[in-house]
Amino acid sequence: MTAQSDDHERTMAFAEIALGQIKALRQPASPRNYEVWYNYATGYNPSLNEMVNETLARSGTLSEADIEQVYETYLSPTRLSERIDKVGARVMDEIDQVMSMVDTAVGNASSYSQSLAGVGKQLGTADRDGLRAIVESLVQTAKEMEAANSTLEARLTASKEEINQLQENLEVVRTESLTDPLTSLSNRKFFDQALAKCIAEAAAQNQTLSLLMTDIDHFKTFNDTFGHLTGDQVLRLVALSVKQNVKGQDIAARYGGEEFAVILPNTMLRASITVADHIRRAVMSKELMKRSTGEHLGRVTISIGVAALRPGDTIQSLIGRADACLYAAKRNGRNRVICESDPEVAATATQVA
Ligand code: GH3
Ligand code: MG
Ligand code: MG
Repeated sequence: MTAQSDDHERTMAFAEIALGQIKALRQPASPRNYEVWYNYATGYNPSLNEMVNETLARSGTLSEADIEQVYETYLSPTRLSERIDKVGARVMDEIDQVMSMVDTAVGNASSYSQSLAGVGKQLGTADRDGLRAIVESLVQTAKEMEAANSTLEARLTASKEEINQLQENLEVVRTESLTDPLTSLSNRKFFDQALAKCIAEAAAQNQTLSLLMTDIDHFKTFNDTFGHLTGDQVLRLVALSVKQNVKGQDIAARYGGEEFAVILPNTMLRASITVADHIRRAVMSKELMKRSTGEHLGRVTISIGVAALRPGDTIQSLIGRADACLYAAKRNGRNRVICESDPEVAATATQVA
């Protein structure tokens, strides 16, 4: 159950499903077809699966054009950057519009001061009627200025709202790119960045930091018995148990297929073991039921390895130690939390050597 053999098994299962679909629909086994079906098999992208399922329900197969559309909509690497570019273009457009409004306002203000200067000259020579005409024209010009100013003000307010909205859009795109769509926990990309940052901060400030690595027990059997889609529901449930038992600065992420990792900044080993045990108990306490049929599916359990940061640790060395503890938890009967100081870890290491 090393990370590598784990990845092998998990990805082979997806590959088999993908090739099975290609065979069943007698499609060319091209990289593009394979990529779409592989992603479908993982279930990581529920919207992609929904689009494929709808197309299958409608026409019984996925034509080359359908595959292309699914790819373009959900997998093309340019998609995210295109969305960011679009927001950028709208911001530029907004700025252009505001700048031209400001230009007009500046023009208005300078013709206003010119007309004031003209009035100044006329005042000395004006008679009664002349004065009335000057005052009327001043009132008129002031009204025009006031109208122009309030138009500008309204436009600036609208623009500010638009830019706020665009900023929120960008934030949504950014969050999406760092979130696992199935469980809505952080994804591996976010986890890698966050762990590097947390390790650097803990080392700089001489603070503690712990890492939990969790893996669902016998999950392959669960999938084989109840199907991958039900397995995916269980993944959501386990993710929820993780989420509900961490707080504050803790970072919970989907590390791989059925593996979750939790970074606990500022947390000593003892306290981390308690958090891990709460998560473990929360998962095993849930009686699983298939919503569509009411069928009872029993319970699942998880094993957890806990490691605490040591001076000189890198991301790899810390994950490696938490993984070794997870491995020991599996070897010692599963459904348990094991930390570095537990004798089982040393025993496992001896057995392996
Ligand atoms: P162990 O107790 O040793 O962990 O046994 P296991 O069967 O869980 O073994 P392992 O951790 O190697 O299993 C990985 C399995 O998890 C393979 C695959 O069936 C399942 N799996 C991985 N990712 C996903 C996923 O995204 N969805 C579903 N439904 N299953 C997944
Ligand atoms: Mg695993
Ligand atoms: Mg497992």
